[in-house]
Amino acid sequence: MPSLYVKSEEELMKELKLEKPFQAKQIISWLMKGVSSWDEMSNLPLSLRNRLKDENIQIISSRIAERHDDRSAVKLLIELEDKCLIECVMLSDGEGRKTACISSQVGCAMGCAFCKTGTMGLVRNLKDYEIVEQMIHLHTLDPHIGHIVFMGMGEPLHNFASLMSAITYFHNPATFNISYRKMTVSTCGLVPGIRQLAELNLGVRLAVSLVSAEDGTRSRIMKVNRRYPLSELKKALISFQHTCDKRITLEYCLLSGVNTTRDSAKALFNFTQGLSVNVNLIPWNRIDGLEWDTPSRDEIRAFTRMLDTYHISYTLRLPKGRGISGACGQLATSTRRNED
Ligand code: SF4
Repeated sequence: MPSLYVKSEEELMKELKLEKPFQAKQIISWLMKGVSSWDEMSNLPLSLRNRLKDENIQIISSRIAERHDDRSAVKLLIELEDKCLIECVMLSDGEGRKTACISSQVGCAMGCAFCKTGTMGLVRNLKDYEIVEQMIHLHTLDPHIGHIVFMGMGEPLHNFASLMSAITYFHNPATFNISYRKMTVSTCGLVPGIRQLAELNLGVRLAVSLVSAEDGTRSRIMKVNRRYPLSELKKALISFQHTCDKRITLEYCLLSGVNTTRDSAKALFNFTQGLSVNVNLIPWNRIDGLEWDTPSRDEIRAFTRMLDTYHISYTLRLPKGRGISGACGQLATSTRRNED
């Protein structure tokens, strides 16, 4: 048993051989505080704590290996039990809203050409408790985190079962009690996963990393488009919207001279017809070794003017966490921590 996270009260009762149901509740409330030793669970009988210690029951599987702060973000490097490394970030906005940005995989198989994680390839899927434990580590820094975005390392819909288990845990009133509408799943456009999510109709929000509404450009930058072109993606989004009645966010990473032209704006306009969307414009964050350029202010202004003429709803996102490589597309680790 590498971790007690994601276990229900009934499972804890059974697996820890507890005698009284309220003890499972007590343990869960300690878990929510990020407690990592049985000694700290002071309201459990000493005999029980000693037995669980003697049986080597592990509470949490991961640990914070490094912490990096800047004004609007805190990035944690998390070491998993097998020494793999992942990253998670807590973002703060001007109104004091705190959002956890969580990873779903070690690396990523999708290979999007603008993304640092995409350069790592997929190492492995995260277990559900490894997804949840990221939130625990961030929660110990600030218990007021009210939103979760699955926009860290990995493609969440490529690890669907663990993602759903973690979402269910985050929503559970006995744990974080975060409403579904305050959780956003971000995908590069995995059509079967979008359809599966729509079928569940939980009410979680959907963000799609669009980057370009032109098939040729998108296929060049995002391999997923070769398998699920824009026409199929749009059909899936229409059906998601039909079922879930939620505005979808289209993440649009601005790459200088690539997706900021008049044709790009027109294609974006055509793609958004029949959909209720907001486009998040994110100027690309420079990443060593990748070939793209960040657009200048003038280039961004010219593109937003074109979007204005098409009456496209958009938000220009100020980069957060850029100084600590915690901004969009910048999360990546060297996979494993060098053994000391
Ligand atoms: S953008 Fe997302 S899906 Fe694409 S490579 Fe990066 S982490 Fe994977």
